Order: sequence, then structure tokens, then C-alpha cells
Amino acid sequence: MNVARINMCHGTREWHKRVIERVRRLNEEKGYAVAIMMDTEGSEIHMGDLGGAPSVKDGEVWTLSVRAYDGNRPERTITVNYDGFAEDVQVGDELLVDGGMVRFEVIEKIGPDVKCMCTDPGLLLPRANLTFWRDGSLARIFYFQDWLDIDFGIAESVDFIAVSFVKSADVINHLKSYIAARSSDIAVIAKIESIDSLKNLKEIIEASDGAMVARGDLGAQIPLEQVPAAQQRIVEVCRQLNKPVIVASQLLESMIEYPTPTRAEVADVSEAVRQRSDALMLSGESAMGQFPDKALTVLRSVSVRIEKWWRDGKHHEAMELPAVGSSFSDRISEEICTSAAKMANNLEVDALFVYTKTGHMASLLSRCRPDCPIFAFTTSTSVRRRLNLQWGLIPFRLGFSDDMESNLNRTFSLLKARGMIKSGDLVIAVSDMLQSIQVMNVP
Ligand code: PGA
Ligand code: MN
Repeated sequence: MNVARINMCHGTREWHKRVIERVRRLNEEKGYAVAIMMDTEGSEIHMGDLGGAPSVKDGEVWTLSVRAYDGNRPERTITVNYDGFAEDVQVGDELLVDGGMVRFEVIEKIGPDVKCMCTDPGLLLPRANLTFWRDGSLARIFYFQDWLDIDFGIAESVDFIAVSFVKSADVINHLKSYIAARSSDIAVIAKIESIDSLKNLKEIIEASDGAMVARGDLGAQIPLEQVPAAQQRIVEVCRQLNKPVIVASQLLESMIEYPTPTRAEVADVSEAVRQRSDALMLSGESAMGQFPDKALTVLRSVSVRIEKWWRDGKHHEAMELPAVGSSFSDRISEEICTSAAKMANNLEVDALFVYTKTGHMASLLSRCRPDCPIFAFTTSTSVRRRLNLQWGLIPFRLGFSDDMESNLNRTFSLLKARGMIKSGDLVIAVSDMLQSIQVMNVP
């Protein structure tokens, strides 16, 4: 296990705080670098069930209200599930029902009631989702609840915040500036689980530090048979943009109740590994299932087996990877990593070593998915934990010296003592300090 996701949809903040403490204690005691990902609830604002699907005509004035009417809801009144609704909207906002099935303009606020005029007629489906726009952009992007959770995540210095139901890159940029304004440096993961997030996929992933293929909700928003193609596309776009990607939900669903997975689940896990995603995520299987440790073992053994099969078949990496670096020095790092990974495959080396302060070079090597383990050494524990999400990296923290020879020797003894390498192994080392590639045998 590399990352622990805490899902704010369930439990209390106190409870999650205790989980975080336990993970940290284990990291401390055992020298692990398990990262914490806080996942926001991101529930949407939606209308109540109006009984049937009434149609709204152009120019009609409807009332949206947070009041609970039992059975005697006045005509042309829509109930809304979000208590802060009347406070949050402003006169002039545009209200979109189900992404544009019907449009309203807010014309007046009277206590808990918001009067809206229809500007684009259509049908109101039961529990339709509601978004409101101000000056051409999405006005409310998080629930009040989510902000409290985000503040909690910042206070706890989690490593990742996963944002549910991301619709546009704006949401990610907004959260990133919020985090930066609090002098925090938490990575932001976009959960791709809505039609809008698929439409704006590239911009969203460019803005994020990684993405999750949230198949659970995605499968409810698009036809199920389209989920595999969406998964493949998300994984590919992430690889191209050098962002880690997590495949999530129902990987081993039957193991919530049974000690062995179905053959179909094993095939599904294999497919995600074969697509070369960075991480696979368990949800209910480990959170409330009867066989959490068995589920993790299955995930691990299937992944290891499929990757071995991939290496044995000498598939290497066929994917075309466009340059991602913008500065000249970034381009150099990228060329070094691409060449080092290629050399590692051609020379069939036993391991790649990377010495990197920011972790960037480690992620560039990981992106190439070479056929050997990548031992990554970095100076900070938080970079180390963050690298743990990425494909093939085995991250360690190490205080560097300027003397590369001494760094190499120290890390060789460290890994020899752990049985991870042995004398005579052929290795390739790259570093972002020297911008060099060295090929050598472990003494
Ligand atoms: P969730 O996200 O578990 O928070 O709903 C993942 C998914 O929707 O697949
Ligand atoms: Mn979800």
C-alpha cells in the first residue's frame, strides 16, 4: 500500500484524524512513506423529486426553495437540497438544470426563496442537478462542507486532495491558489467522474497534479459500455502530460464479501495494469469489506504478475510521449530520463537510480515505464511520500552531498542492506544536480 485515501463522504473529521495519526505512526516506526489522500465529498446541488417531469416554459417565474414542503408544495416551486442556497446565489446568476436542460435567471431573493425566470425552456427531471454561473463561470464550485474538509486537509498537511465531480480546470486552479495562499503545498488530484470532466479532460489534467478514473460515478453518468474507452483515454492523456493516474472503483468488488475475486475482476485489474496506470485504488474492499488484507494481496500479486508478463514479453513502451518541459533545463532533464529509460531496457539493467530534489526527474523516469525498478532519492519526506503514487518508483529520503560518488556509495549500501540490489548488478544513475547519466556495476 502506497497511499491511504480517506473519503470525507463517510465518517467524521475526528475519525479521519485518528486514521491519519495511525498511518503516520506506522511510517515513523517502520520507515514507510505511505501518503495520505483526502477525498472531498463534492456532492452536487440538486432539486428534489417533483413527481414526474414538469415542463418549464420560456419567461415563466419559478421559486427555488430550501424549505421542506410535505405534500403541499405550491405550484411552480422547486425544492433544493442545499441549505446555503439562498445565501450563495446572487440576483443575475444563471441557473443550469442538468447542465442545460433548462436555464433560469435569478431575479429576486426573498428569505429562503429564490425567484427565477426561465430563459431556456425544457423538462425538470427528478433530482436534476443544479449549477449556477456568474459572469460566464461556475459560481459555486464546492459545497461549504468541502471547504471545511479542505481546511482540515490543509491543517493535517495531507499529501493529496482529491476533488470529486470536477467539471472544469477552473475548479482545480481555484483550489490550488487557495492552498498556495495558505502556504501549503498539497497536490491536487482531479476525479474524472462526470460528462463535463470528460469534455474538458485535457485542460483539467493540465491544471491538476494527477487524476483518478472514478469509475463508480462515471459509470452512472455515461453508458457503462463507454467506461472502458474513457478509462483508456484518461490513462493515456495523463501519461502524455506526465501526471500520475489512479484507476478506481469496483476493481475487486466481490471481495467485500468473498475471500477470492471473480475471474472477471482479475481480468479488469490486469487491463488497468496493462494500460500502465500508476495506481489502483480499493474502496469498499478495504474500507468495510470482510477481507481487506486479502484484497490488497490479490491486487498486488495480480499487478506483479502482469508486469512480469509485460517485461518477459519485451513489450517495452510503445507509447509516443510528447515533450512536456517548457524551459530548456526541463527539456534537458526530459531527454536524460527518456534516454536513461531506453538504455535501461536495451542494456537490461537491474535498476535505475535517480537523485532528485524536487522529484521531477523521478516522475520523468516513471513516465517512461522502464523494465526495471526505479530507486528515487530525494531530500524531503513530503516529496518522498508524493512520489509513492507514481508508477515503478521506490522512493527514499536522503540528505545529498555534492559528491555524486559518495551519494552513490551510500545508496548502494542502503539498498544492499535491504536486499534490494546486490554486488555486480548493472545500474544506471541519473541526477538533477549533475544532469548526467552514469552506467555502472554495484561494487
Ligand atoms: P468515490 O469516487 O468512491 O468517492 O465515489 C470514486 C468513484 O466514483 O469511482
Ligand atoms: Mn465518486
